[in-house]
Amino acid sequence: MLQMYKKNKKLLNAALGPLKAKGIRNLINGESLAAKSQKTFKNSSPIDNNLIAEVAASDLADIDTAAKASMAAFKAWSNLPHKERRDILYAIAAEIEANAELIAVLESYDTGQPIRFTKKAAIRGAANFRYFADKVIDARNGLSTPDTNHLNFTVKQAIGPVGIITPWNAPFMLSTWKIAPALASGCTVVHKPAELSPVTATLLCQLAHKAGLPKGVWNVVHGFGHTVGKALTEHPDIKAIAFIGATTTGSMIMQQGAPTLKRVHLELGGQNPSIVFADADLDRALDSTIFMKYSLNGERCTSNSRLLIEKSVYQPFVKKLIARVKNLKVGDPLDPTTEIGPMIGKTHQEKVLSYSEIGIKEDGATLLVGSGKPKGLKGCYVNPTLFGDANKDMRISQEEVFGPFLTIIPFETEAEAVEIANAVNYGLTAYIWTKDSAKGHRMALNVESGMVWINSQNVRHLPTPFGGVKNSGIGRDGGEYSFEFYMETKNICVALGDHPIPKLGA
Ligand code: NAD
Repeated sequence: MLQMYKKNKKLLNAALGPLKAKGIRNLINGESLAAKSQKTFKNSSPIDNNLIAEVAASDLADIDTAAKASMAAFKAWSNLPHKERRDILYAIAAEIEANAELIAVLESYDTGQPIRFTKKAAIRGAANFRYFADKVIDARNGLSTPDTNHLNFTVKQAIGPVGIITPWNAPFMLSTWKIAPALASGCTVVHKPAELSPVTATLLCQLAHKAGLPKGVWNVVHGFGHTVGKALTEHPDIKAIAFIGATTTGSMIMQQGAPTLKRVHLELGGQNPSIVFADADLDRALDSTIFMKYSLNGERCTSNSRLLIEKSVYQPFVKKLIARVKNLKVGDPLDPTTEIGPMIGKTHQEKVLSYSEIGIKEDGATLLVGSGKPKGLKGCYVNPTLFGDANKDMRISQEEVFGPFLTIIPFETEAEAVEIANAVNYGLTAYIWTKDSAKGHRMALNVESGMVWINSQNVRHLPTPFGGVKNSGIGRDGGEYSFEFYMETKNICVALGDHPIPKLGA
């Protein structure tokens, strides 16, 4: 393990020099460019608060150039023989895999996510490209719906240049998750990565060009949400916006995109329950609940932030949970033994810390583990935190903390579990633990969420629909669902003979 830690550090240090020297620039029409205004902003690591690089602080002018480049490239890309498009996506997957270690260390240093997860993110990013490459051949297929005198059939066609706006929590994986299906559909892309995690976005786009992607098909423009993000959502050449981020931002994006009638797909926040019944395999439920809250620093939209536990097993379950949360290893994310790294930045660190105050003073819940900052660590770290004796109405049960922070709420009956689970504005995921299969199925139908796992942590199968209900989003991603978003369905109706035509003015 120590050897791997040293290797990760060495790889990171070798990469940081050139990054600092060149800065993180836009990539528009295949060219590495500074912002037209020449403005930059600083990006630092949450591990040690050290500067990583100056980043292009772009604005409307840069978005305009990128949108025009993506429009100019659209016809050729969408008309490219599909086998050629497929092979380029395969080549991008291969480039990602060849650079997986570099991507993982940079992502960890930029975001604070432990290397044990970022390593998988790079591999998963490649898998996303490969999965959608496989689907390119059939992407345009439609339906045949014959009528008596007419044959109707549909074809799918790429919608046009699209804007993709991503958050900071899993920036590399989430970018591939959006960009791979867009390219497979024949769309061209302007990507606006989160300002707090810009490092791997330009690298990913560079790798795509190395893999043979034509110029202008994929452009990256760095900068802030209220300038670059807003300009992208308002640009008339951009036909759709695929967005992952906070609920309030999603709402703004709908408003900004309204004058140009943008199609929007929103993947937003969550306050998801893990519902554990007394008849469950409690050891597996414990492993999963801990994993689904404390992995990825708890900065995970699909995490179970509320544990709903049946009262009869509350005491023994929570006792084991306390011991495990106390034992979580907080530290340098580049160390392969680390389980929890720092929060993305100081502002977010303060936000997560403030919820311990809220839990104790405002809500009156019981602090069982954590709160505060770990001693001896310089970056944006927080202690993994656990609150017990909560109820559904408390702020720590209602709001998205987005950190290593779990709230426990007891329940007595199935009906009460459903009521508590649904008593939030969000509806992204739910995890149900019971050995009673009929109860598991009833619960799955009754909880208000876009995705439910029964007796499982979040295991993602790429063809399945991903998305939320209520304030957790609009639309679905994954498999065919992604093509529904990035493509238009056109109906073509052909007369089969001389059917009657009404004769006006005859
Ligand atoms: P955020 O909404 O603050 O930022 C996301 C992106 O939107 C950034 O690139 C930002 O620059 C941009 N942005 C901000 N204002 C904008 C505007 N007015 N117009 C256009 N773009 C704008 O979110 P965040 O803090 O980066 O990410 C955390 C949030 O993302 C959490 O709520 C989390 O639950 C959510 N998330 C959801 C999913 C999902 O699949 N449902 C996945 C990951 C993260």
